[in-house]
Amino acid sequence: MESLRGQQGFDESAFLKVHEEEERITSIRLNPFKAVSPDFELNKPVNWCYNGYYLDVRPSFTADPLFHAGAYYVQEAGSMFLDKVLRGCLDPGKSLTILDLCAAPGGKSTLINSFISPDSLLIANEVIKQRAGILAANLSRWGTTNTIVTNNDPSHFGQLPEVFDAIVIDAPCSGSGLFRKQPEAIAEWSEENVSLCSARQKRIVADVLPALKTGGYIIYSTCSYSVAENEAQVEWMEKELGLNYRSLPEVPEEGIIDTGKGYRFYPHLVNSEGFFIAVLQKTEATTIGQPYVKAEKLAGLTARERQLLEPYLGKEQQENIFKHAALYKQLNATGRNFLEKYGRNFYIRKAGMDVCQFKHDELIPEQDWAWGESLPQCISKIELTKEEALRYLKKDTVLPESAKQNRGLALLTYKKAGLGFGKLLPGRLNNYLPAYCAIVDKSIGLT
Ligand code: SAM
Repeated sequence: MESLRGQQGFDESAFLKVHEEEERITSIRLNPFKAVSPDFELNKPVNWCYNGYYLDVRPSFTADPLFHAGAYYVQEAGSMFLDKVLRGCLDPGKSLTILDLCAAPGGKSTLINSFISPDSLLIANEVIKQRAGILAANLSRWGTTNTIVTNNDPSHFGQLPEVFDAIVIDAPCSGSGLFRKQPEAIAEWSEENVSLCSARQKRIVADVLPALKTGGYIIYSTCSYSVAENEAQVEWMEKELGLNYRSLPEVPEEGIIDTGKGYRFYPHLVNSEGFFIAVLQKTEATTIGQPYVKAEKLAGLTARERQLLEPYLGKEQQENIFKHAALYKQLNATGRNFLEKYGRNFYIRKAGMDVCQFKHDELIPEQDWAWGESLPQCISKIELTKEEALRYLKKDTVLPESAKQNRGLALLTYKKAGLGFGKLLPGRLNNYLPAYCAIVDKSIGLT
């Protein structure tokens, strides 16, 4: 509080009052790749983000099949300002290569993925292994074929020679901006931790900088109020790394504070938790020691494999298919090119969309495919009611009346959004939903 007194836009009593209130803001961002609208009232848009909406009440997301289908992402409204920032400095009509360096669980990644064109590439990275798995799952649910998920330390990217048009660094921070939402985090806060975070943030930015193209952008954000993690970092990047601060072309919404070195969100001024974001441009090339050179050609498809895939994937889709171990994966050309040039130097958690494999010529579909934009044409689809969808998602038995006469592989849908696969046998459905996608709360879906 002492450090914030006197800061532009800061009002101590209003700030304290808003922290004492029980109010919990809920906002979601719709998935533009899935033409399905959730059951909630969507009449309060988040003004600074396409497809962003406030909800009047917080529903049980786990009890909504569309949440599991990746039809929307639950995200803090302030974080959605990244959309405005991306539009302010990049042209989504171009083929872009973007790195989201501190990406788990994937809020910013799904937003970036929604912004870029299909021929662009998003590399979403997370250094903590377990969190990288969650990130991969959330991007799989988003359903696109132009993302790669890596599990590396930021320094590993420093050997990439000027590859990215933008690097988003949603840095690990002291987290004061989330105190209203998570009061328990207050006990973990300390000035020492702010200093520790500040030093780590500098290291992260400096480590990754060589991978940014000259002319490219560092988009730096935190959910901290501390100047040491925000404006002071921007000044350090200008002074020590030679980056140039860029303000946004449009004056932001009322209540968002433009400090001249970034944009601040205070909960007493805007409908959001605390957030800070700034854009810096790299105008001078950085030299690197030893660029990565280990290239590896991806395995293409044999004539026999093309024949096997033909009923499920048209010629155009097959162009983007490559084989890794027994799995067929769909990834756009920019992504395949990145993998071939640099893939061997990274821990790849996910490359594009896992489609399927064949066992004795029988197609075994992968869960990613159920969430994909281009659902397989010749696999029958079974539309479920909400209750049936929840039963399917809990891996309980389900056999809709309309499907009793059907046999073979089927995609189970809710409101036409893919949930997962199953196999129809006489009198039953074999549920193929992987365990990691299943709802574990037994009380959900009970009527
Ligand atoms: N961008 C994410 C989103 O929008 O969903 C949130 C990212 S969170 C603020 C910061 C992330 O940085 C965490 O996932 C954390 O595991 C990761 N992290 C922690 N230490 C790190 C380090 N030394 N280098 C890079 N990332 C780190």
